[in-house]
Amino acid sequence: MTTHHLDTKLVHIGSAPFDPESGTAPVSIPSIRTSTLRFKNLDLLDKAIAKRMAGERVVTYGISGLDTHRALEEVIMELEGGSYCVLAPSGLLAITIAMFALLKSGDHVLVADCVYGPVRNLDRTLLKDLGIEVTYFAAGRDNVADLIQPNTRMIYVEAPGSLLFEMFDMSAIASVANANNIPLVTDNTWGNGYIYRPLDLGADVSVIAGTKYIGGHSDIMLGAIVVKDPKIAARIHATQHAMGNSISADDVWLALRGVKTMAVRMPHHGKSALEVCEFLDSRKEVVRIYHPAWHKDPGYALWQRDCSGSNGMLAIELNCTPEAAKKFVNALTLFGIGFSWGGFESLVQWVDPAALSTHAYWTGKGHALIRLHIGLESVQDLIEDLTQALDKITA
Ligand SMILES: *Cc1c(COP(=O)(O)O)cnc(C)c1O
Repeated sequence: MTTHHLDTKLVHIGSAPFDPESGTAPVSIPSIRTSTLRFKNLDLLDKAIAKRMAGERVVTYGISGLDTHRALEEVIMELEGGSYCVLAPSGLLAITIAMFALLKSGDHVLVADCVYGPVRNLDRTLLKDLGIEVTYFAAGRDNVADLIQPNTRMIYVEAPGSLLFEMFDMSAIASVANANNIPLVTDNTWGNGYIYRPLDLGADVSVIAGTKYIGGHSDIMLGAIVVKDPKIAARIHATQHAMGNSISADDVWLALRGVKTMAVRMPHHGKSALEVCEFLDSRKEVVRIYHPAWHKDPGYALWQRDCSGSNGMLAIELNCTPEAAKKFVNALTLFGIGFSWGGFESLVQWVDPAALSTHAYWTGKGHALIRLHIGLESVQDLIEDLTQALDKITA
């Protein structure tokens, strides 16, 4: 199927095989719930173990999942252009596994300052306790060569960042990482491989929160780690094994169901978000729009070069205090007040200025930042809702 378009592959990958006797197969792969397997005899068990030792995805116990898990791994590998995929019960655990697999006591890691908030918490707690040192660098700074120390063992970026959507020159960072033999790990929750493929641009590890657009329906927590290199994959496999990583077949099944419609959801989110940008640009309350597919965003040229689409995420800088912006948030009726994104519904997040003080890209001191997820509602209704809520700031 390598010659087919990604949209076609998303529909067909991971299909259940035909039953040899009846010649039929379920169109929707079932959720195979099991904690273990039975082997017909010891010979077959020994053969399975030998194959697994040789690196094949052969299951001898339920922890890593059977065909349901395998189908989702295949879809995610296809999306990201990777050769190995490990699933995790949340995006954050996928990040933790990647860090634990590639870092040890005494190591140093370079982290972009726009990363998902809980990564800083991981840094302050577990990484610190292990004696792993973190240096944050300004998102968008592509030459990090001067920040590399003799003990630097990872460069970690999130592109675009999930509050201000800063674009990175991934190929430029990858060439620095490569030249120094340091793995480049990226959080690709924004792109999911469908609209952005960091592994193609030279990143070594791509981590995704499938909780967002892969699941697409705000009903599961899920993470994935995708890798090209077999040596890095072996370290990630060993680490997740040691940590007892496992994910419910039912959650995997929901993710498979969600990802089948990604090809219609993502462009819809992206198109509506751009229409919302157009509207917001006409409002005097809005100082700046943060959305890389918006032609006035500083990351637009990189977005055009490296991305094949966009999604429903954007942020707006309002020329009022963060306190005053709460009126706007409370006045919205179609946008749920809540964290997360990537589901069918519109969401709004009032961003705490304290969270922005660590982002070098943020220059809106005194202004408010509001993050929006544009859902699958009628964009006309969303714009009407935004209009009445913006009117309330000045009223
Ligand atoms: C949500 C999110 C995560 C974490 O995913 P969970 O499944 O909620 O643990 C990581 N990175 C980014 C960019 C996210 O948006």
